[in-house]
Amino acid sequence: MCAMKKVHHVVRRPGNRLGDPDIEIPVAEDLVTEPGAPVREGDVSFYSREYPLEAHFVENSADREWLWSQYTESFAQWRVEHEKVDTPLVEAAAVSGDIPPHGEPDPDLDPTEHIRQKARELGFSEVGFTRYDRRYTYASKKKWVKFQHAICLAYEQEYHGTQKIPSEEAEHTHFGTYTTEGAVSLELADYIRSLGYHAQVHSHSDSSAPYIPMFINAGLGQLGANGQLLMPHFGSRGRLMMITTDAPVRYDKPVDYGINRYCDKCQVCVARCPSNALSRDKLWWRGALKNKVSYARCRPVMGRYDGCSICMKVCPVQKYGMKPVMDHYVETGEVLGKGTDELEGFTLKDKGHFGPGEKPHFDREFFEIPRGRYENWVYEDFKKRLAAGEELTKEELAEFGEAVREAVQTKRETTG
Ligand code: SF4
Ligand code: SF4
Repeated sequence: MCAMKKVHHVVRRPGNRLGDPDIEIPVAEDLVTEPGAPVREGDVSFYSREYPLEAHFVENSADREWLWSQYTESFAQWRVEHEKVDTPLVEAAAVSGDIPPHGEPDPDLDPTEHIRQKARELGFSEVGFTRYDRRYTYASKKKWVKFQHAICLAYEQEYHGTQKIPSEEAEHTHFGTYTTEGAVSLELADYIRSLGYHAQVHSHSDSSAPYIPMFINAGLGQLGANGQLLMPHFGSRGRLMMITTDAPVRYDKPVDYGINRYCDKCQVCVARCPSNALSRDKLWWRGALKNKVSYARCRPVMGRYDGCSICMKVCPVQKYGMKPVMDHYVETGEVLGKGTDELEGFTLKDKGHFGPGEKPHFDREFFEIPRGRYENWVYEDFKKRLAAGEELTKEELAEFGEAVREAVQTKRETTG
């Protein structure tokens, strides 16, 4: 066993729930890098200007359609019911920035702590303030985002349901959290309006940008090797959303939790990903230093195995929390739970259980799924069939025309 590690600094954070005592996370000397994340600001600006990002649901609309074909009948039915509840929340968020305030700003009142307190009362575990960085905004959302300050909010996804990943039950937990936070964020926005300011809700299901860089700037966590934000109480088992506002809030600062280097030592998610979709080494990507996820390898597994998320399930920070994980590292120099079936084991419905060191095999065809934008994929598929000499019936041609019309219509709606 390694000797006890020297502690470089201790991070103090509020308890998970309102009223819980603060927690103290020790960061060992050999885990120290820098607060937040390494960023090349010039690269972020360049890529934002020359190659703006686009929302996942626009960029990958082909596999979103395919996803539904992978659902069991009962889960498809459950998703339809879920959408009925969730869609009105997403629609309300979309127009929330246009609603005028219904209170008068009090020049003697600092809205920051009032908003933080209200968000905690509404059940958000993590609340932080930072500048809304427009460089990350998706192309189709650039005209939509109205206000300059970002309130970063994370709602905890229930523990026990999450440990059943991958399963339909875990997916109920995941989608259910979105509905809960979708509803309470509208309440929080209304509270901000009562203080005399505007509030625009950036919905979980209709994101305006990748939120993680702003959450890191607000001090709420650091980026894990699984591509997810690792937060103090529950790692990546928190669902992120954001409210932007013109309320004059004070910004929080990024924090070094030791995660940048801890992940280099842990690597459990990288080793356990069933399709080897996570890179072992960090690389620079659009100005961020990160372990890059291969979408092409991840998505076929996610789609076929109930959202997969094994990389979330096997993360010790998700399972035990950052404090026990860092306490253990300081005491032993080891990764809590690494090598145990409790942490690393997972079950795939048609392949059985895989303990530490064991992984399933997928053949090449497994990874062949519709890719990119739906309209492009429909067109490519059409060309392939023609080239193969397939005779297309009148009905199939009409179906193709309808698919293209729908795709063009969807594009118009999403790009305004
Ligand atoms: S969701 Fe599954 S397939 Fe995708 S990166 Fe995570 S573990 Fe790998
Ligand atoms: S499993 Fe380990 S390497 Fe992966 S994100 Fe969690 S702490 Fe980092």
